[in-house]
Amino acid sequence: MSTLIIAEHDHQTLRAATRSAITAADQFSESVDLLIIGHNVSALAEQGARLNGVTRVRVIDDALYANPVAEDLAPLIAGIASEYRAVVTAATSFGKNLLPRVAALLDLDMVSDVTGIIDASTYLRPIYAGNLNAKVRNDSAIKLLTVRPTAFEATPDRDTVSPIETLAAQASAGLARWISTEIQKSDRPELSTARVVVSGGRSLGSAEKFQEVIAPLANKLNAAMGATRAAVDAGFAPNEFQVGQTGTVVAPELYIAVGVSGATQHIAGIKDSRVIVAINHDPDALIFQWADYGLVADLFESVKELEQALN
Ligand SMILES: Cc1cc2nc3c(=O)[nH]c(=O)nc-3n(C[C@H](O)[C@H](O)[C@H](O)COP(=O)(O)OP(=O)(O)OC[C@H]3O[C@@H](n4cnc5c(N)ncnc54)[C@H](O)[C@@H]3O)c2cc1C
Repeated sequence: MSTLIIAEHDHQTLRAATRSAITAADQFSESVDLLIIGHNVSALAEQGARLNGVTRVRVIDDALYANPVAEDLAPLIAGIASEYRAVVTAATSFGKNLLPRVAALLDLDMVSDVTGIIDASTYLRPIYAGNLNAKVRNDSAIKLLTVRPTAFEATPDRDTVSPIETLAAQASAGLARWISTEIQKSDRPELSTARVVVSGGRSLGSAEKFQEVIAPLANKLNAAMGATRAAVDAGFAPNEFQVGQTGTVVAPELYIAVGVSGATQHIAGIKDSRVIVAINHDPDALIFQWADYGLVADLFESVKELEQALN
């Protein structure tokens, strides 16, 4: 069975999520091609050719794809998909925006957010905010899958290099046009792949307090900062901090939840964390049912104490 992986990148490096998608595909495919679409991406293609599990790299390099829009990528991928039995992307914003469009163009079903591979047609995926795992079978001629990056190890580099092939670009569909990109610059690790995450809830009370309490602890632990949806909705933290069912799904070694209630939708995004630490002044807070270590205390005092102890 041959599988096409759609690479996600920033024109400099392949995202770790793509490495996880390769690991997932490798579990049910005889060959795995990596498709890199972008502009001036020859160095990126060489990176891809060194990834364990990749049989061949296919590159579409054109100025049109310097800032590609999903409306242009989808027909391009739909055109190539018939050469494959499966097309896989990571279940990131990029993949979630792209693959349903490909599925619609091909008039095929897709399976989203796959967390386990049973065989080439059968997969596990969470339902009801992660409370149940569904085993689903997809008999489509071409399987279209988004896979949850935290459920699969990132494939490593290897010494051997796979062949690189160039494919032709396709004229823009003219449906959407890139105008500008606004990127929040941060020296912190990326939330979805961070080894440690420190998250705050609505209990922080303001954006200033959120920064004052959460940031120093995150700095000490070289952690990414996260937030509950309630904290984001209240304007205490930016959107990209949101962890959970409708935010980023994380699986760090250590997740510290500060003043977080532990609502189902938040837990859906953290329950694969190796160790969960919760600080909450309510001993009955739901988060304690998930925490490996729980501290029933006022967060404003205990986070300071924790920081001092770390010093
Ligand atoms: C469709 C849908 C999708 C959703 N998706 C998400 C999602 O992706 N992510 C997400 O997080 N939520 C999501 N939610 C919202 C979710 O249901 C909760 O409302 C939210 O997670 C609660 O956030 P919170 O824990 O910060 O706030 P609260 O529920 O207000 O909890 C605050 C907690 O802080 C504790 N506390 C208060 N003061 C202190 C103090 N001084 N010291 C210590 N502890 C203190 C309280 O005891 C309480 O447990 C979603 C909801 C819906 C309906």
